[in-house]
Amino acid sequence: MLSEFDLIARYFTRTARAGGPVLLGVGDDCALLSPPPGETLAISTDMLVEGRHFFAGADPESLGHKALAVNLSDLAAMGARPLGFTLALALPSADANWLEKFSRGLLSLADEHGIELVGGDTTRGPLNICITVFGAVPGRQALRRDGANAGDDVWVSGTLGDARLALEALLQQRTLPADALQAACARLHRPSPRVALGLALRGIAGAAIDISDGLLGDLGHILERSALGAVLDADALPYGDVLASQPPSVKREFAFNGGDDYELCFTARPASRNDVQAAATAAGVAVSRIGCITQEPGLRVVDAGGNPLALDSRSFDHFATP
Ligand code: ADP
Ligand code: MG
Repeated sequence: MLSEFDLIARYFTRTARAGGPVLLGVGDDCALLSPPPGETLAISTDMLVEGRHFFAGADPESLGHKALAVNLSDLAAMGARPLGFTLALALPSADANWLEKFSRGLLSLADEHGIELVGGDTTRGPLNICITVFGAVPGRQALRRDGANAGDDVWVSGTLGDARLALEALLQQRTLPADALQAACARLHRPSPRVALGLALRGIAGAAIDISDGLLGDLGHILERSALGAVLDADALPYGDVLASQPPSVKREFAFNGGDDYELCFTARPASRNDVQAAATAAGVAVSRIGCITQEPGLRVVDAGGNPLALDSRSFDHFATP
């Protein structure tokens, strides 16, 4: 049987890369990180709870990936460069097979982004994974939610809606052919945080947010903080590959209100369209221009012909009453 300290040493301790921002990692009372001189720390925490954010018995490797990916997505949405992260883990038992796979999923995404696990806490309890990420951004270049301006374009990265489609299929509320289910599940279980795009948009985007609870709800946060409104073109939405073959009403509903997309929604001045496209090309991800920011408050949706569409924003809320 693994002790708490064996477990930390075996699965969560690696030698720190020389020359990086980590002066001291796992093993002391605190980790020591040095952000680049003159930059501001960006810090974000996200928790994944069994039965709430993932099904009991979920694949541990994907869980490790997703737990870090959703946190990196917040850094991306701020235009921050990831420095490192901590992991607070409650586990029902020290299951070596589970820990091996979980740490593989977690640390391979960390390696992709060149960052290290610098500390954490480990306890027995119902499965709960809480990660805090640390990033750095030149203070004035952070992509804040209050940075939108009237007349800005509204953009979204990648494609929307496949993760929600996968969730409904897993809940048996919808059936998908096996290959489509597999592709949609990849979007749900292994999101790609748009870190490179967030960095490339520094100095170009006004406001940004990552789409975790649905495009309309998350864009609503930008509008609220910026005290502005927006008009979106429903026919300009980038549908996920699997969602694209669904009926039109499902496509719109899932792209607008799906959730778990982990794409970036951001605003930029129309004069910056070429810069936005160049940033997207450099980051290797497509972007779509889906509307514009208005002085008039509220969020309106129209079709390509400019006809108004009725669509509620039903952003996910853990404490909402049905
Ligand atoms: P403390 O008594 O200060 O809380 P712990 O005994 O909990 O320290 O942890 C020992 C070391 O292992 C610390 O450096 C801590 O950051 C690290 N650590 C504990 N759990 C984890 C984990 N799940 N992942 C990474 N590091 C961890
Ligand atoms: Mg501790």
